[in-house]
Amino acid sequence: MTEKEDNFGFRFDNSYMDLPQMFYTEIAANKVTAPAIVIFNRTLADRLDLDANELKEQGAAILAGHEMPSGAAQIAQAYAGHQFGHFNMLGDGRALLIGEHITKDGERYDIQLKGSGRTPYSRGGDGRAALGPMLREFIISEAMHALSIPTTRSLAIAATGDVIYREKALDGAVLTRIAASHLRVGTFQYAAQFGERSDVKALADYAIDRHYPEIRKADNPYIALLETVLEKQAALIAKWQSVGFIHGVMNTDNMTISGETIDYGPCAFMDTYNTSTVFSSIDTQGRYAYGNQPAIASWNLTRFAESLLPIIHENEEEAVRLAQGILEKFPSVYKAHYYSEMREKLGLLYPGDQDEQLINELLQLMEYNDADYTNTFRSLAEGERPNNKLFQSEQFKQWEKAWFERIEQQDMTKEETLQVMKSVNPAVIPRNHLVEQAIEEFVAGKPSMFAEMLQVLSNPYDTNEQLSKYTQPPTDEEPPFVSYCGT
Ligand code: AMP
Ligand code: MG
Repeated sequence: MTEKEDNFGFRFDNSYMDLPQMFYTEIAANKVTAPAIVIFNRTLADRLDLDANELKEQGAAILAGHEMPSGAAQIAQAYAGHQFGHFNMLGDGRALLIGEHITKDGERYDIQLKGSGRTPYSRGGDGRAALGPMLREFIISEAMHALSIPTTRSLAIAATGDVIYREKALDGAVLTRIAASHLRVGTFQYAAQFGERSDVKALADYAIDRHYPEIRKADNPYIALLETVLEKQAALIAKWQSVGFIHGVMNTDNMTISGETIDYGPCAFMDTYNTSTVFSSIDTQGRYAYGNQPAIASWNLTRFAESLLPIIHENEEEAVRLAQGILEKFPSVYKAHYYSEMREKLGLLYPGDQDEQLINELLQLMEYNDADYTNTFRSLAEGERPNNKLFQSEQFKQWEKAWFERIEQQDMTKEETLQVMKSVNPAVIPRNHLVEQAIEEFVAGKPSMFAEMLQVLSNPYDTNEQLSKYTQPPTDEEPPFVSYCGT
């Protein structure tokens, strides 16, 4: 056998292990009873230059953590984080990094198994994951990718054949997560809190080398790192807002340095537009509500900056002054990204003086008239005006007149404008009530809806009459969607 056949195409180079020992613990994954692949992402396997056929046919034991490919590591990463504002020591409590895979083009991706067993960071947890929540992470992360939103991705889900216990007995599963890295704001908080200045520096240098090598030569690379991460996160949150995505648990350990969305727990897409929307059962204060996400990103970046202070400048006051100078840019950087996304949704190709007002007025009308966020924009793009409260209102008609006038100033026909709009306003998003139904059916042994939904969500801008059931908001009779942490 060639090495490729022998190893499913994995080419590991585990640079994380060159960091100081405090950043990780080596520990073996659980052995499992009956590894079996239940979902496999062939497109992603191909994209990573893995041997998709081989992995799908012969890779169950590996994707369940039962066996390791050659060259793999097995490490749990240490990190801390503010959870709902409270600082805690955390770490990979149910995940293992099995290595950094290098594609043929030299791109580096973390391969992580989630649900692979207890680690020194598990605290009271069992280190396991149930099939349902892993299906949820799979479908939502892949939908996010199809919406061109930076995100960790899902390569596969393997059933373990083991039973795990939550409120009841559930089927255990392992999800293979692919990420640009798993460096988090919380990794820096961990280094700052429990390490020396040299540990913070080692981590920052590693993050720069891995994600932003272009800033290595900056006058102050650590200020440049702060500024770059701020820029990435502002761009990311603007994209979330533009599709109505609510992360649900924007703790600092769930914010990446790469700018990818990570940790699909209690997240969900908003149906009716309302800035105070919260889905997470434990977020009683609305800390992570839709409308709060930009402010929370800024709060998290401030925690990131605090962790970097000792390496930003030897004089603390000066370090604070420098960091402050970056952090105060967040509102304007975010705003620029947000309005750029929203202008595009309305087919406005260059900025105009009245655009912010135009956008905000529409959103206010949507909120007032309980309009569905996704479908409103898609209807505008399709040139359709369904018979609903928003579109029938006088205020909307006035707004529409102003919008048409604005569009007419552009050097494009209305048809061309709508075409642009159709390419950025999704027809389908993973709607909670449908995701839940698809998962329930899958877990009960009927995988067809889940498979169909994955397919539909991989082309979110396509209009396809047959698949219209995936564009329907929940009915008023359906109970409000609630999501749960700790699954
Ligand atoms: P999350 O809410 O997914 O960001 O997780 C917060 C922390 O809890 C992380 O340190 C996780 O590794 C840990 N954790 C979540 N679920 C489990 C579990 N079943 N067993 C052990 N640790 C867990
Ligand atoms: Mg997390």
